[in-house]
Amino acid sequence: MSNEQLDQLRGQLDEVNLKILELINERAELVQEIGQLKRKAGQNRFDPVRERAMLDLIAENNQGPFETSTLQHLFKQIFKASLELQEDDNSKSLLVSRKKRPENTVVQLNGDKIGNGDPKLIAGPCSVESYEQVYSVAKAMKDQGLNLLRGGAYKPRTSPYDFQGLGQEGLEILKRVGDELDMVTISEIVSPKDVENALDYIDVIQVGARNMQNFELLKEVGAVDKPVLLKRGMSATMDEFIKAAEYIIANGNENIMLCERGIRTYENATRNTLDISAVPVLKQETHLPVMVDVTHSTGRRDLLLPTAKAAYAVGADAVMTEVHPDPAVALSDSAQQMNIPQFEEFLGEIREQGVFKG
Ligand code: PEP
Ligand code: MN
Repeated sequence: MSNEQLDQLRGQLDEVNLKILELINERAELVQEIGQLKRKAGQNRFDPVRERAMLDLIAENNQGPFETSTLQHLFKQIFKASLELQEDDNSKSLLVSRKKRPENTVVQLNGDKIGNGDPKLIAGPCSVESYEQVYSVAKAMKDQGLNLLRGGAYKPRTSPYDFQGLGQEGLEILKRVGDELDMVTISEIVSPKDVENALDYIDVIQVGARNMQNFELLKEVGAVDKPVLLKRGMSATMDEFIKAAEYIIANGNENIMLCERGIRTYENATRNTLDISAVPVLKQETHLPVMVDVTHSTGRRDLLLPTAKAAYAVGADAVMTEVHPDPAVALSDSAQQMNIPQFEEFLGEIREQGVFKG
């Protein structure tokens, strides 16, 4: 074969490749349109009956030289890529996705901003137990220049016989301390019926791990004008977590902060397993601020400092931790809360190491 002949055949091959390229992209556009129609109709993207019909059509019309099985294999790859394209389009359409909004959402909490590249620290007792208890922790924080105060008024407890929180009285205590010390208050609401009332008492509504898929609660907090701190469910995948946040934003509330708080695994050296990679994953996939709760993820006081350092290093917008004036007598989570001197030491460490600059 002369070089000329070879070049000519190669030229023809290039032309065919370009035709295939054009056709494959024409097919992809049709696939996208089908994906949109299916999404509107709430239909499943994958349709095995339809795939079978397409493979049969190929078999009936194949005149060779390729074997039908070879062609079917190639087409299966095209079908797979098409499904992925539809999935990609679908995640692009989520309001929380970074594809939809490339710039970071910054949540404004009075003077403090979460998600602006300047990492924060949220602290406070597990449960609100009394005015004096909350005030002493809050004052120690304020003296250190910290403004973001957490405290549980409604406590989702595993046992119905454990302390369930002070409820309304707890919200009132938080409001009083928050007003007196000019701090931002964060507290968990567990029932949709308590959301509206809470608006008058707290600055951030927390949705806890056990309620991450309480869709009625998500819709309720989505419909109010108050920032929401959404915690990852104990066994929730990233996709489920992101879609839970989507419930909130879809109802109109864009001020959402995501919180990794450990997941349940076979490992029992820690209370939960801190999924540190959740931080960069969530930051890549969404435009929302991401924080790490080092207390509930580890359940161990001795691990609060190293996990907080890891969280800041991996790009968390905030770390959350629990502090109690006397953890030994705390009504919840007594094993992992820091007392005030321990907290001051913790703060000194993260400041000294430059991981926390607040
Ligand atoms: C809490 O932060 O008080 C709490 C109960 O955490 P989680 O929902 O992550 O268990
Ligand atoms: Mn706790």
